[in-house]
Amino acid sequence: MHPKHLLARHHIDPKRSLGQNFLYDDQVLARIAGAAELAPADNVLEIGPGVGALTQHLAAQAGRVVAVELDNRLLPILRQELAACDNVTLVHGDILAQDPAGWFQAQPYKVVANVPYYITGAILRHLLAGRAKPSLMVMTVQKEVAERVSARPGAMSLLAVSVQFYGPVEIVGSIKAGAFWPRPDVDSAIIRIDLRQGPLLSPADEAAFFRLVKAGFSQKRKQLQKNLRVLGYPREQINALLAAANIDGQRRAETLSLAEWAALLEASRQIS
Ligand code: SAM
Repeated sequence: MHPKHLLARHHIDPKRSLGQNFLYDDQVLARIAGAAELAPADNVLEIGPGVGALTQHLAAQAGRVVAVELDNRLLPILRQELAACDNVTLVHGDILAQDPAGWFQAQPYKVVANVPYYITGAILRHLLAGRAKPSLMVMTVQKEVAERVSARPGAMSLLAVSVQFYGPVEIVGSIKAGAFWPRPDVDSAIIRIDLRQGPLLSPADEAAFFRLVKAGFSQKRKQLQKNLRVLGYPREQINALLAAANIDGQRRAETLSLAEWAALLEASRQIS
């Protein structure tokens, strides 16, 4: 049933403040689920199931689905719509206050979600930097955000480095605003993040890496040799750091690749 009619039947109005734009085009829903390449052994975390339209696709393809919904008004609809899906666990709560480790007991899991756009960045931070990271994330996000997180050297940002640090990001499809009800003001895109397996860096090295990256991006349009001064090293040491990493200090942070940030981290280990 169209979400408009489903909600009307339960006397519910969509809440803009919760990013409630429901997808009802079955082909779009199938494309999102398809991008996660689900198999019967897969565990899936869905954020914001809404009225359960995407959840039904996920439940049909995966072994188990945990769906976390903040809006308690939607729970009776979800229970009704998902009554036949016995592999779905509904959780009422805020995804940002949940630890997926408890649900999947150290087993790998994938995130597939049409997320509320007002907390896209917070969801990415919460799940990517958390202790129980997913193996893969497929998310519908605002088109501009998709372009920013999947940017290549030349157009990198703190957000792009912070996400791509955990794995490559790809835009796997676009969704017109008309595929949602109510229609959002923006176009959307589907992104897929394939997380790198195994430990990336030790927690201390990870902290050092992000200190460097944040310093590099501290002032827009300034050269790296100037921005890196916020680290508190003398100018000669900054120049030595950049030379050891084989990076021209006149370049700007947005031009650096992940490998070049890693080279800077390596050089900073030798210098400090
Ligand atoms: N998945 C449904 C679909 O594709 O039609 C609904 C997507 S709608 C964009 C976002 C959903 O996330 C809404 O159901 C909203 O209530 C829910 N939501 C908003 N904030 C949330 C949060 N912090 N934690 C969990 N769910 C949240």
